[in-house]
Amino acid sequence: MENGRFQMSVVEKLSFIRYGGTEEELRAARILQDEIQALGGESELMDFTVPASDVQVCSMRAAAPFERRIECVPYWLSGSLPEGGADLKFFYAPRGVAEDYGGLESLEGYAVMLNSLSFDAYKLLREKNASAFIVYQGKWYDDDSGLDLYSRTIRPKLQEVGRIPGFMITGRDATELVRDGVQTLHLELRQEDVENTSRDVLAVIPGTQMPGQSIVLTAHYDSVPVGTGSWDNATGAANLMALYKHFLAHPAKRTLRFIWCGSEEQGLLGSKAWIEQHGELMDEVKFCFNFDMCGTVLGPNEIYVTGGDDLLHFTQQYTREVGWPANLVQKVHSSDSAPFADRGVPSLGITRRSDTGVIHTHNDLLFPLSEAAMGDIFTFSSGIISRVANSRFMQVACGMPDTVKADLDKYFQRDKKA
Ligand SMILES: [Zn+2]
Repeated sequence: MENGRFQMSVVEKLSFIRYGGTEEELRAARILQDEIQALGGESELMDFTVPASDVQVCSMRAAAPFERRIECVPYWLSGSLPEGGADLKFFYAPRGVAEDYGGLESLEGYAVMLNSLSFDAYKLLREKNASAFIVYQGKWYDDDSGLDLYSRTIRPKLQEVGRIPGFMITGRDATELVRDGVQTLHLELRQEDVENTSRDVLAVIPGTQMPGQSIVLTAHYDSVPVGTGSWDNATGAANLMALYKHFLAHPAKRTLRFIWCGSEEQGLLGSKAWIEQHGELMDEVKFCFNFDMCGTVLGPNEIYVTGGDDLLHFTQQYTREVGWPANLVQKVHSSDSAPFADRGVPSLGITRRSDTGVIHTHNDLLFPLSEAAMGDIFTFSSGIISRVANSRFMQVACGMPDTVKADLDKYFQRDKKA
């Protein structure tokens, strides 16, 4: 089967909700293992735990000056309100900075709505003792109310600051609450911390001449809990499978380590877990290629270059040589290559960005994808990986310049102190 068709067949098989740490993610992992086996290869699952919540109650209604039920989901690991819920004063703080609160010293008894949940805004809410926070999602015209609402986990950096019961509502409801002057909300939230099991799918093709040097190839196969996650990231997972098929038939001089990462959407948990469980291998890892969102009919191609100018120049030169048009951006790719880059591994994040597609919603479907576009990314990626994995010496050495280190510090919020 031609590559594009093979890749799309894998994308189709993976096109269902497969949230990290669920049975459906395990089902997706088994599909990948079956593909590997059908190609004559071997794979294993690497388990790791993901924090989550068991939610007993979550509800919101406007209590004064009018009554109305409001669709909501909780932030996992954000704690609980007292049994029976609480009547809280509603306050909207668009930027979540001190000026937004005017003379309000304490936010105890308040439910504060923010535009987005930044570390600094969250920390200020905690300092001012806010009783709850609300964040909204989506546009006012998304009137399939609640369709794309799903729980997110409070990230570890924010957990360090402390807990504030958190809710997410639609952009439409958020607009109405402020426009109609709601004063009091009745909120209920009871939840318990739990740990789920997620997993990476691993396969290795040993190097024929330099087996002690590894190139890591990553793509996450989990999705968010809405849509079918076809673009994000069944496409990357499928491209990785086409690469596995190719290199199984044409082994490289260096070892190729394929990692289909689980739970990327919950904070790159699969790639972080791999590094944690393979500390002894990290000295061998010389390069990382990551695939997140490929194969859209409309473009352009984009490559996130996380490394120094030598990596940028090498990539530039290669794309010119083979005539593959792409925007090269020298920054951290917010995906599974980031934890490797953070360990000094030169990393390329290969994607195709399209404004016609949309991720993390019920509209991430098969429609904007094509065999031709998938085949194209395979041709490019198999070429550049082959070049790196077969060279007599590494074109780019490990290590990051200070500017990239600073970007990584910022990306991983190491500049933020609880
Ligand atoms: Zn993704």
